[in-house]
Amino acid sequence: MVNYSDHRIHILVLPYPSQGHINPLFQFAKVLAGHSSVRCTLAVTRFVASSARPAATGSVHIAVFSDGCDDVGPDGVGGHRGPYFERLNAAGPGSVDQLLRSESELGRPVHGVVYDAFLPWAQGVARRHGAACAAFLTQTCAVDVLYTHLRAGRIPPPPVREELPPELDGLPSQLELTDLPTFMVDKNLPPGLLELLMNQFVGLDTVDHVLVNSFYDLEPQEADYLTSAWGAKTVGPTMPSVYLDNRLPNDASCGIHLHTPKTFETKAWLDAHPSLSVVYVSFGSIASLSSKQMTEVAEGLYNIDKPFLWVVRAKETSKLPATFADKAKGRGLIVPWCSQLEVLAHPSIGCFVTHCGWNSTLEAISSGVPIVAMPHWSDQPTNAKYVQDVWRVGVRVPPDSQGVMRREEIEVCVRQVMEGELREEFKIRALEWSKKAKKAMSKGGSSDINISDFLSKFGHHK
Ligand code: UDP
Repeated sequence: MVNYSDHRIHILVLPYPSQGHINPLFQFAKVLAGHSSVRCTLAVTRFVASSARPAATGSVHIAVFSDGCDDVGPDGVGGHRGPYFERLNAAGPGSVDQLLRSESELGRPVHGVVYDAFLPWAQGVARRHGAACAAFLTQTCAVDVLYTHLRAGRIPPPPVREELPPELDGLPSQLELTDLPTFMVDKNLPPGLLELLMNQFVGLDTVDHVLVNSFYDLEPQEADYLTSAWGAKTVGPTMPSVYLDNRLPNDASCGIHLHTPKTFETKAWLDAHPSLSVVYVSFGSIASLSSKQMTEVAEGLYNIDKPFLWVVRAKETSKLPATFADKAKGRGLIVPWCSQLEVLAHPSIGCFVTHCGWNSTLEAISSGVPIVAMPHWSDQPTNAKYVQDVWRVGVRVPPDSQGVMRREEIEVCVRQVMEGELREEFKIRALEWSKKAKKAMSKGGSSDINISDFLSKFGHHK
C-alpha cells in the first residue's frame, strides 16, 4: 500500500478504444483534471497504451484494461465489428472491475466513472464499487435524438425507406433519407454495429449523469429534447482551451495518437503558406475509401490548383493513383497522420474537406474553419446536413448515382468555400461558431456550468 493522502475526487474516464472516442474523452479528462478538486485517470486498452505511447497527458493519469485483444487490437480481429465487440464485452467488465479494485487498494478509490456510452456495462462495474456514473455520448445531440426515437419505435426499424414522421420532437430540421445515419438506412449492415449504437441508451435512465460532446448554442432544440428524455447535458467542445483561443500550443503532442503524427514536417509546410490558402483533407481514423473515390479526391485536388495537406493513412496509400505522389509534389503534402487540432488552428488553413466524423466537424467549427463535407457512413451524413443547412459553415459534395463524389463536384465545392460569393459568409459564420464554442467552455458558459454542476454532485470525499 502506498502512502497516499489525496483528498480529491477521483474520476475514471473510460473511452471506447478508437481514435474518435479516445480524443473527446481524453480531452474531457483534461478538463476535469484542470479542477483542483479532481484526480482524473483515463483507462485505455493495453493495445492502445502500447501502440499510442501516450505522451504529454499532463495532469491526466493513464491506466490500462484489457479488451481481450491486448496484442492485436481491433484490427487483428477484423476491425470495429461484431467479433471485436464480443471480445471487448467479454473481457472488459472483469478487467475494469480489477482496475477499480486495485485503485482502491492503492488508497485512491474511484468516486465516479465517466464511461463512453459504447461501453454500457461500465455502469454495473462502477456501481459494484459504489462509484457514481456518467454516460458520455460522443455523437451530436441531433443523432442521439434520432437514435432515441428509433429505439422507442417512433422511427420504423432499419432499413428506413420512407420520410421520417414530420412531428418528431427535438429535430427542427426536416431530414431526408440521405441525411440519416447510414445505419438507419443501409440494407447490409456490418454485424453488431446497430446493436452497439442502440445499446448506448441502455441504462441511461438509471445513470447519474448523461453528458454529450456538443454545446448548447449549436443545437439548442436537440439538446433540450435530450435533457427531457435522458437528463443529458452538453459539456463540449472538449477541446483544450489553447485551440479554442486559436493559439498554437508549444506542446506538440497533446493527444493520444494511434498513428504517429508528422508534426514538425506538417507545421513547417503550413508555415510556408499564406493565410487561408491551404485545403486540408482528412477522412478520419476509420473510413476506408474505394480506390475510385480516392482517385476522384486526388484528381479533384490536383485540378483545384491550391496547396493541399492530405492525410492518407498508411493502409490507404495503395489506393492513390500510381503517379499521384510525384505529380502532386510541390503542390500538396500527403502525410499518414497529423495533429489535427494544430492543423485546424493554423492560419494557412482555408477549408477542411472532411468525412464529417463528429470530432472533426466539431473541431473545425470550434476552430473557425469552413467545411467541404464528404460523408462516408454512420452519423456523418447527418453531420454534413447540419454543416450545410443548419450551421451553414460549408457545403456538402453531392454523390453521383453510384454514391461516388466526383472530382468536378469536389472542385466546385472547394471553390465555393474558398473563393465563391459565399466565401466571406462561410468564414464569418465559422468564426462566430468558434466564439460561441469558446464561450460555452469559458467560465460561466453553458458547458462550463454543466461540468461544474456534474462535479458538484460528488461533494467532498475525505
Ligand atoms: N485526427 C488527427 N489526425 C489526423 C486525422 C484525425 O488527430 O491526421 C483526429 C481528429 O482530430 C479527431 C479524430 O482523429 O479528433 C477523428 O475523429 P472523427 O470523429 O472525426 O472521425 P473517426 O475517426 O471516428 O471516423
